[in-house]
Amino acid sequence: MEAAGSALGSAAHPLRVAVVGSGPSGFYAVEALLDSGRAVEVDLLERLPVPYGLVRFGVAPDHPKLKSVTATFDGIACDPRVRFFGNVGLGQEVDADRLAALYHAVIVATGADADRRLGIPGEDLPGVHAASDFVGWYNGKPECAGLQFDLSQEAVVVVGQGNVAIDVCRILAKPVDELRRTDITEHALDALAASRVREIHLVGRRGPVQAKWTPKELRELGVLPGWQPVIEPHALELDAASRSELDDPALAQAAKNLEILRGFAARPREALRPLFLHFQECPAALHGAGRLQEVVLEAQCLAGPPGAQVAVPTGRRRALSAGLLFRSVGYRSRALPGLPFDARQGTLPHRDGRVLAADGGVLPRWYVTGWIKRGPTGVIGTNRLDSVETVAALLQDLPALDAARPGRTALLATLEAAGHRVVSFEHWLAIEQAERERGQRLSKPAEKFVRVPDMLAAAHGGAAASPP
Ligand SMILES: Cc1cc2nc3c(=O)[nH]c(=O)nc-3n(C[C@H](O)[C@H](O)[C@H](O)COP(=O)(O)OP(=O)(O)OC[C@H]3O[C@@H](n4cnc5c(N)ncnc54)[C@H](O)[C@@H]3O)c2cc1C
Repeated sequence: MEAAGSALGSAAHPLRVAVVGSGPSGFYAVEALLDSGRAVEVDLLERLPVPYGLVRFGVAPDHPKLKSVTATFDGIACDPRVRFFGNVGLGQEVDADRLAALYHAVIVATGADADRRLGIPGEDLPGVHAASDFVGWYNGKPECAGLQFDLSQEAVVVVGQGNVAIDVCRILAKPVDELRRTDITEHALDALAASRVREIHLVGRRGPVQAKWTPKELRELGVLPGWQPVIEPHALELDAASRSELDDPALAQAAKNLEILRGFAARPREALRPLFLHFQECPAALHGAGRLQEVVLEAQCLAGPPGAQVAVPTGRRRALSAGLLFRSVGYRSRALPGLPFDARQGTLPHRDGRVLAADGGVLPRWYVTGWIKRGPTGVIGTNRLDSVETVAALLQDLPALDAARPGRTALLATLEAAGHRVVSFEHWLAIEQAERERGQRLSKPAEKFVRVPDMLAAAHGGAAASPP
């Protein structure tokens, strides 16, 4: 039911909300507002000219089905109550104070694209990289497009026990001809085609039961042509606490993972390239003369009660020769200018989605959802529930949000006065069409633009500056 009279959220007095960030959580927040039964005008701001966040720049190119969620997002963006403001970043083209003055409420959905470091000696040696940079590179994220990864190295270490670490291993190992049929960037294909990687070590500090990857992704490591997963038999021996964790029905995934790992370990060793899975080991130092040459691994033991075991260093160390290391030990959000930030958690502090000021009180008009709210956990769909919770809090607060707010006309006027080129959703569809046409010429679904000026040229109907 639409609100009556001139209450906020009625046809005469629509609720004007800016959602900042067009990843899954941003789109699901817009959807929840559209479904609220109130009269709403929702503006979706995105710092890049292209939408979808990590669905475009994170999800692996050889998992195209997962990207089909963009069809749902397109339906949301095309609702007449919604307007997409691409190429408009909070803290860049518009600041926090201005947004709060233009809208009844602002929902921050800017994700978590900074990586966590290992915090060990040698981490800045050439050859040591954040997995997020490698992922951004093969997926065409503008900031990562110019990065270089030395794939002439034969041995690579990937640190982490989640699906991103598995994605990195799989992209390194997968036959390039299989990747050619995906929307992976051409610069990545060229580098991967010349790769000399012969040995991958997937290293994690916890045991096989605590690893966070999902069975589907883990299983894929067992079917990489030319590669064999290798696990030392003792690595799958479980302590009492890990055995009791397996009895927890909530951890059914861990039992499935263990079964898959046992299958890997039981395979007779063949003359294939090894993809070693190491458990309860953690890099303690990285050595090399001018670039990474050696990774020192320290054995870990598990301590604590079932469900809350932590890895504790044992002091037992061994060295592994490797010229390339990718760390995938978590993502963190970036602080946004003019807004509070919890630097320890790497999130925007909140209560039920309401942003909290430094004094712990609610910061009026500001809400948060997605990875910047809860940290980098969960799959695409998890963000839907999160955004529904945040929008429910916002709707509860409606009486306190009531005020005159001009919304999008004033935002557009501000941006136009500054001579800024806003990318509308129609512009994005033109970019997408141009990417598909570039892809067709290469027999791929799409060849992404990796430079913002090229995206803008395609958005505004110009010829792409750089050929595919
Ligand atoms: C490598 C990787 C692979 C993944 N693969 C899968 C998978 O296969 N399946 C699955 O279900 N989940 C996967 N996930 C998880 C999934 O991508 C996340 O759950 C989801 O993207 C988080 O949504 P979000 O909207 O919070 O953040 P994001 O998707 O990061 O979106 C945030 C958006 O905000 C924009 N933004 C940032 N700062 C600003 C600013 N200042 N102003 C305006 N806009 C801004 C960003 O450009 C981005 O578009 C993967 C994650 C990663 C990292």
